[in-house]
Amino acid sequence: MKQELFAAKPGAGQAWDVVIVGSGPAALTAAIYTTRGAASTLVLGGEKWGGQLMLTTTVDNFPALPGIQGPDLMQKMREHAVQFGAEFIEKNVEAVDFSGKPFKLTAGGQEYLASSVIVATGADTKWLGVPGEDKLIGRGVSSCAPCDAPFFKGKAVAVVGGGDSAMEEALVLTKYASQVAIIHRRDKFRASEAMQKKVFEQEKAGKIKMIWNSEVVEMLGDEKLTALKVKNNQDNSVSEMPFDGVFVAIGHSPSTNVFRGKVNLDEKGYVKTTPSERFLMSTNIPGIFVSGDVHDYLYRQAITAAGFGCMAALDVLKYLDKDVPNW
Ligand code: NAP
Repeated sequence: MKQELFAAKPGAGQAWDVVIVGSGPAALTAAIYTTRGAASTLVLGGEKWGGQLMLTTTVDNFPALPGIQGPDLMQKMREHAVQFGAEFIEKNVEAVDFSGKPFKLTAGGQEYLASSVIVATGADTKWLGVPGEDKLIGRGVSSCAPCDAPFFKGKAVAVVGGGDSAMEEALVLTKYASQVAIIHRRDKFRASEAMQKKVFEQEKAGKIKMIWNSEVVEMLGDEKLTALKVKNNQDNSVSEMPFDGVFVAIGHSPSTNVFRGKVNLDEKGYVKTTPSERFLMSTNIPGIFVSGDVHDYLYRQAITAAGFGCMAALDVLKYLDKDVPNW
């Protein structure tokens, strides 16, 4: 049931109280709080909305929802925000102008005005940047096993990385591929103990093979991936290994291209906060706030992103001089 709007939407030529850019847990939690705080709220959610959880399967660490599927969790968050009156638009932001007020954001060729903005664009897949990778993305090279694993039924695939994402990709792939190899540049994973345990069980069962101390230096194939050139970084030997697919799971980088030069970023491209006594999620531009993985390089969890979204929303309500909701 759609509740009555907490704040009226702005008329033509008027500014939204807050425009939230992004649609992951940070963005949607922020929207739940700003709508409840009577701020008219527009979420520019992107053409591929929902963030990284849309590309994952089971989420076991979101409180009270053990085992929920990532996309289901995001759908629930979106419905929650919209139920409270947030306007949700599935368009990418192409340009921003934060030089004066109201702030201007262009998405899908249309300009939107904002009294305040929360940047919650999250992070994108990091690629290896080796020869052959770019042209073979979508032709055997992927970063999303839950999306693409069924295409590799009975085939040989590799996963690159040693974090939780790599473990998760490998575990999903064991359900489809005939052979799964994890290629990792060290001889230890950084993934959580729980994820490593599951992977080592699959290794014992003969479903996963480890290729330690090794780096993919080239991806081979014309129409589709046929093999990987893999360098052993202990003895520098390079071997050509036949694979039908490779899943790159080496982390993410912040999605800040559109904000470059508009708001302070750190050397890795994350949005920098400029905390003060009143605000923690503020940036160097008064009225522009940030939340989630686009600023958080450390914790990067759905629940921390949601927490940061809440903080940014409360900062916005204070900034707008709105009542902080009675929670
Ligand atoms: P991550 O923890 O940063 O791990 C990235 C992995 O890729 C590391 O093992 C790293 O190697 C390797 N790597 C990085 N750059 C590389 C390169 N150029 N060439 C080869 N290998 C490279 O990233 P993540 O696995 O995406 O996880 C990110 C965050 O999300 C973590 O906090 C994680 O716990 C969380 N997460 C949780 C779940 C879950 O709970 N189900 C699932 C996915 C992610 P080194 O180890 O040598 O540095």
